[in-house]
Amino acid sequence: MGEIIDGKRTALECRKALKARVTAYTEKKGYPPGLGVILVGEDPASAVYVRNKEKACEKAGIASFHNSLPADASQADVEAVIDRMNDDPMCHGILLQLPVPKHIDSDAMLRRISPEKDADGFHPMSAGLLAIGQPEFVPCTPKGVMVLLEKAGVELSGAHAVVVGRSNIVGKPAAQLLLSKSCTVTICHSRTRDLAAEVARADIVVAAVGIPEMIKGEWIKPGAVVIDVGINRREDGSLCGDVEYEAARERASHITPVPGGVGPMTVAMLLENTVEGALRYDAP
Ligand code: NDP
Repeated sequence: MGEIIDGKRTALECRKALKARVTAYTEKKGYPPGLGVILVGEDPASAVYVRNKEKACEKAGIASFHNSLPADASQADVEAVIDRMNDDPMCHGILLQLPVPKHIDSDAMLRRISPEKDADGFHPMSAGLLAIGQPEFVPCTPKGVMVLLEKAGVELSGAHAVVVGRSNIVGKPAAQLLLSKSCTVTICHSRTRDLAAEVARADIVVAAVGIPEMIKGEWIKPGAVVIDVGINRREDGSLCGDVEYEAARERASHITPVPGGVGPMTVAMLLENTVEGALRYDAP
């Protein structure tokens, strides 16, 4: 029976450690690190995410600057808010909550955020720096995955890691981070011919697909570590991951639950990125 990797507890520890850094920064500078948050439209899930992130900022002593735009805001309106935050010396990180309404070019908006304030790590500059092994802002979810692996004491060097999913937000940066720790990395996606066989070879499985329980417990190699990034809602309203949790736990050495695994780490890493940005680019 695999050991449960407790993301909720680890995220709390990270946030506690961060608070001490925030206090020291604020005492030194006379103002706190700041995160600019941009929400376009009225998507209820996005509104909840934004509220949670802002509450987390408050608890950590980080200032948050909230910018809501209506669903029919133009691209120029969004650009104007980003430009204002780029120029605001009190704002050290900028978060554009995704998804944005369809008429807005989200890639162009992410590129408009100053690479020096890219708290989400989605700017091509951040992605490029990560790819060449000189990371600055690392996307929050995969960054959280690495912290969980490290805290669980998982041996990474030489391990075979299989990442299922190749999004710019999770799959690709997770693969880069695992590679940077000397894992041998396989990236799977919707065209992978035999997913079961690929997963069965993994010492570490990172699932970031978005399909409920699609990774079967019987595919997991005995003793493997399973990190489930997926957050899916079943028909009865309950949450589940991309991995068949109970069956996978029978075979895994360690496994993250959903909820309470990777999810809480994402917010903790956003706060960390904001503070790291302030320390990196707002030096005394
Ligand atoms: P995307 O939809 O952007 O990417 C999904 C990936 O899964 C794609 O690369 C896709 O392949 C691949 N895929 C789809 N179907 C299959 C299949 N049958 N077999 C193998 N691969 C497949 O999702 P995200 O990366 O943004 O998110 C993934 C999951 O993680 C979601 O459940 C999301 O809710 C969750 N998530 C959780 C976060 C957290 O804080 N814990 C944060 C971000 C996301 P292809 O490229 O070929 O289409």
